[in-house]
Amino acid sequence: MNKYYTTIGLEIHAELKTKTKMFCACINNPDEKNPNTNICPVCMAHPGTLPVVNKKAVENVVKVGLALDANIADFTEFDRKNYFYPDIPKGYQISQYKYPIVSGGHLADFDVTRVHLEEDTANNKHDRGDYSLIDFNRAGVPLMELVTEPHTFASSEEASAKATFFAKELQLLLWYLGVSEANMEKGEMRVEANISVSSDKEKFGTKVEVKNLNSFRSVERAIKYETDRMIKILEEGKGEGIVQETRGWDENKQLTFSQRKKETSQDYRYFPDPDIPKFNLHKLFNMEEIHKSLPELPAQKRARYKKDFDLKDEDVETFINDMELAEWFQSVVVILNDVEKIKIAVNYITSDLLGLKKNNADVKYPNVKNFAELIEMVFQNQISSRVAKDLLIRITKDDMSPKEIAEKEDLLQKNDTDALTKIAQDIIEKNPKVVEDYKNGKENALMSLVGQIMKETKGSANPSVAKEILSNLLK
Ligand code: ADP
Ligand code: ZN
Ligand code: MG
Repeated sequence: MNKYYTTIGLEIHAELKTKTKMFCACINNPDEKNPNTNICPVCMAHPGTLPVVNKKAVENVVKVGLALDANIADFTEFDRKNYFYPDIPKGYQISQYKYPIVSGGHLADFDVTRVHLEEDTANNKHDRGDYSLIDFNRAGVPLMELVTEPHTFASSEEASAKATFFAKELQLLLWYLGVSEANMEKGEMRVEANISVSSDKEKFGTKVEVKNLNSFRSVERAIKYETDRMIKILEEGKGEGIVQETRGWDENKQLTFSQRKKETSQDYRYFPDPDIPKFNLHKLFNMEEIHKSLPELPAQKRARYKKDFDLKDEDVETFINDMELAEWFQSVVVILNDVEKIKIAVNYITSDLLGLKKNNADVKYPNVKNFAELIEMVFQNQISSRVAKDLLIRITKDDMSPKEIAEKEDLLQKNDTDALTKIAQDIIEKNPKVVEDYKNGKENALMSLVGQIMKETKGSANPSVAKEILSNLLK
């Protein structure tokens, strides 16, 4: 069998999080459950209505462009993309063709071709048997489309992993920029993958476009499935070979199926929408100001976490992917202001705090001051890790100083040899059987006595000191 290269180009749609729709004043609410609530003559395509561009939506796409290090067009315009389908009542979708808002840029392994703005379609409900219903709540919602350049990978595994990573990274970027919820399950972000295989690294094979990818998992699996299918066709060398077409992903059967032979852009008879003024983006917006207003982006944050705190990749990703956590953690970092203390904090966050939150969704992030104080006590060896874990639970429930609790409840680590010796003697007297076992050579018995001291002191004894005292007493 030949070695095959896999080429991928992605087309990703994301609904923008704006107050109102793209060309009318209707509310843009993706969670509206009552059908045909947020509608008006404009998004219902009544004759004589005129679209008005939502400036905020344009600004959101500009932000995406700046974050991708792309070019923001001087001149931009909206076009009519003509096709007939019940979900597009005007008989055309307002989109952008020749002059997209954004061109160029890059993210993860892919170069970006363009990002443009269009309007989302209505929702068809085909689940009623012999008739269909249409919900226009989504019609006219601002929708950005990002298209990547084709990128060739050495294997289908690499291609599917990198394409999936790109989609995740774009979702993160949209979250960080605050421009889209980009929830794939809700259809707020939709991925289409163009896929081709070739045994010649320098020459693209015939591509197939796969639609209906509603989760990162399906992106990954569809690319693997489709490359295998195409390689098989090439290896068998029979029939008409690979056909350029649009295929759908069947989530239940985990396979792709032919939907239609691909239409070309001529089929859409694009032309500039005469109802919408053309504009110059650099006159409309102050690019420098928007650029300065961008938050720290995922890639920047990732690099900073690695460089400043020397964290494990896995921990870095935990923080990068959880914006609420990252924001809370940032305040902790500012207070602790010390790499060693921050590392201890990360440890308590990833292995304890997040565990607590996972088991109980109601668990809240503690007051940062209290948490930093707790870490400070651990760092100073003032409390044992067991006490620290207990205190952590308590400060997630109440806004209390862990230091005050520890002092009041006598939980500070006892390194005080005299006090510990007294307790140890007491424990030895109460456990003659264990002591005998130990004297007969059973090393483990000593740890059982240490455990009793820990219990007696509510975890505040320093276990290694306790162990030393015991073994001295039992010599
Ligand atoms: P079309 O005109 O068929 O829509 P485009 O040139 O606009 O094709 O490209 C659409 C998407 O397909 C882009 O993301 C592009 O990177 C990708 N693409 C183009 N050629 C290939 C190929 N041979 N293999 C995989 N992806 C491709
Ligand atoms: Zn409307
Ligand atoms: Mg295209």
